[in-house]
Amino acid sequence: MTETPEADQPMQRMLPLFFDLRGQSCVVVGGGGVAARKVASLLNVGAHVTVAAPRLCAQLEQQAADGVLRHRRENFRPAHLEEAVLVIAATNDEQVNAEVSRLCRARRLPVNVVDRPELCSVTMGSIVSRPPLCVAVSTAGAAPLLARHLRQRLESMLPAAYGRLAMLMQRYRPMARERIPDATLRRRFWEQVVEGPICELLFSGRGQEGEKLLREALETDTTPPARGEVYLVGGGPGDPDLLTLRALRLMQQADAVLYDRLVAPPIVELCRRDAERVYVGKGRERHALSQREINELIVRLARKGQRVLRLKGGDPFIFGRGGEEIDTLAQEGISFQVVPGITAASGCASYAGIPLTHRDYAHSCLFVTGHMKDGVLDLNWDALMQPRQTIAVYMGVMALERLCGELRRRGMPNETPAALIQQGTTRNQRVFSSTLADLPAEVARHEVSPPSMILIGEVVRLRSRLAWFQEKNTRKDSQPTTTRTTP
Ligand code: SAH
Repeated sequence: MTETPEADQPMQRMLPLFFDLRGQSCVVVGGGGVAARKVASLLNVGAHVTVAAPRLCAQLEQQAADGVLRHRRENFRPAHLEEAVLVIAATNDEQVNAEVSRLCRARRLPVNVVDRPELCSVTMGSIVSRPPLCVAVSTAGAAPLLARHLRQRLESMLPAAYGRLAMLMQRYRPMARERIPDATLRRRFWEQVVEGPICELLFSGRGQEGEKLLREALETDTTPPARGEVYLVGGGPGDPDLLTLRALRLMQQADAVLYDRLVAPPIVELCRRDAERVYVGKGRERHALSQREINELIVRLARKGQRVLRLKGGDPFIFGRGGEEIDTLAQEGISFQVVPGITAASGCASYAGIPLTHRDYAHSCLFVTGHMKDGVLDLNWDALMQPRQTIAVYMGVMALERLCGELRRRGMPNETPAALIQQGTTRNQRVFSSTLADLPAEVARHEVSPPSMILIGEVVRLRSRLAWFQEKNTRKDSQPTTTRTTP
């Protein structure tokens, strides 16, 4: 017989069981920080905890004083095990831990010895908790760190509302059993609940609507139909790590994705593989689709029952025309939700080391657009001239010279610090940090590619101390403000 790789697979040693400890006596031997963590886990599920230890750490001492736990202020004795249904040994004395383990095993009492898998009959998993939902990860003590790592990944994958979903399903189980007696059909029904619009309503904070839909589905004996809906999602300024958890989740479940020029390719890449991807343009020169056509396309896809993701750069409600797009949806009665994103001003400022506000330099921050209409820069100049504020200019590169000129003409000092941040938060980020008088010439000397953000105000000065993000082409021997990027 040939050896297969599977032959080397270790046997799965542990059977995960979930232990109802409410009101049950549990004993923790040891009174240090590790014991305190175990005590917390036990108390968390409603166990009655007795701690046997001559001394307690401050936290356990407090809990004993508050009557949250019972304290036996003495060394471990076998008598402590009486009435216990679960025992945890967490002392720093190996012999005591081994003795506790031996005695418990002799009594067939489940025992856990911290960090000594060979002395345990039960181990605790790393837990992701969405009560009543609970996910526990175990490596049977082989690599606790790996279990914790995996737990963190699961944390970010499971929306907080899963617990609410579980409770809703629990409440409607009797009704479902009555209305859909056939077990197979009933399973199919619940599958549609957890994959479909009811679930999504819960996740986006519209639990009542979700419950209504569930009740209707049960009352009318139909599974909830595939309902088209639209997710207006902010994709942030460029770095995929700046996506929100909700954005990522919706990106991975949408059937169709409509994105424009501002959305960085690595972000589009994170959308579901088999989703239909539609580039809807909006470059300055090349309008792939007009705004009206985009609105119509979204409506058409949603009407077909698709989950449509409208993916926008930055935040959809900041110079993103997000309001107009969902206005159409509201009029058409199509369900939608909006997911905020990190807006370019905020992302660029952070990655350039320029705080938008600062106790000493700027008490407010103004977001304006430098987009010109018929060559005219239509801005509220009085508002722009206010002292102690930062001005963040979106879409301002074309108007940079005019903008700086007008501010100076109105009395803003020539030496007011001003910066232009190109492709902020991406590996192509470049920062030109200068003054109101010199920035236009500085930018003109270099080839600046969109998108770029202009920041004006005293806070720009702080960059010399606070810059932290390593730009791709920054060499130690050259100033980050003058480096060239070869495309
Ligand atoms: N809704 C977007 C803004 C859309 S307007 C948001 O909230 O960020 C488009 C303008 O945003 C661009 O002209 C540019 O000024 C700015 N911008 C977007 N992404 C940027 C980036 N990564 N770096 C610099 N500026 C950016």
